[in-house]
Amino acid sequence: MCENFTDDSCGECKSCHLIKSNSHPDIKVLDLTVDEDGTKKATIGVEAIRSLKKDVYLKPFYGKRKIYILENAELMTVEAQNSLLKVFEEPPEYAVIILVCSNINKILSTIISRAVNLRFDALKPAEILQFTEKNYSDFNNKKVISEICGGSIKKAVELIEDEAGLELRSKVLKAFFYLLLAESDTAINELAEILVQNKSINAEIISMLSNYLSDLAKVKSGHKELIMNLDFLNEIIRNSESMDINSIYEMQNELAEFNEYILRNANYKLVVIDKLIALHELSKKKG
Ligand SMILES: [Zn+2]
Repeated sequence: MCENFTDDSCGECKSCHLIKSNSHPDIKVLDLTVDEDGTKKATIGVEAIRSLKKDVYLKPFYGKRKIYILENAELMTVEAQNSLLKVFEEPPEYAVIILVCSNINKILSTIISRAVNLRFDALKPAEILQFTEKNYSDFNNKKVISEICGGSIKKAVELIEDEAGLELRSKVLKAFFYLLLAESDTAINELAEILVQNKSINAEIISMLSNYLSDLAKVKSGHKELIMNLDFLNEIIRNSESMDINSIYEMQNELAEFNEYILRNANYKLVVIDKLIALHELSKKKG
């Protein structure tokens, strides 16, 4: 879209400025899972694609090209994908459509075969840190974020911009720290309460616990420098002193089954407490 370069952007021209301020009329970043009134949908239906199609055939306002970035493309229904396929078969020459998806198996092969496929692997913490240092220089926990975001810039930005998410993580890890110490009835109840209240993101909470256990194993095997939860270093060291490496692995296995197991059960809170007590017992086991 740059007016000066063809293989890069100058950052100075009008087009570059419009892009930087998210106001270029010919670039559309679309999350079609969100309705006009803000309600979130589980799929992208054919209606949403129809209005995109209408827009595609209108010539660019300003630039030489018109670019669409369609997020969560894997959520398009088959009907919606077939509708979009028509554009892929006869695209206007100025149009670039980028489908961003986290599961390519959900995309029709007829679309995949007409697209250039680019795979993005997880970034290294140092690369994430480079990004956050440039874009969020005022933010304090950049190093921690770069470790816990799973190599995703999107996740890192979400964590930085959503204070509640970071607070929840602190609460979860603090409760887990106490759960792994000797006497910990309050911690078990507290963590159970958090899991019950945040049922929809239990998978995420369980992965926080699992990462914490991985950190314990790293400290246990003398690799303190490799841990993810840097802001919990003291807690991790303290837990690792009282725990046996085999029970840490056993707890990892317990956690792996945790999510599926509790979601299948009707008496949710009881099952959660039951599982947490099992984890607590394991933490006391000596090899
Ligand atoms: Zn430019």
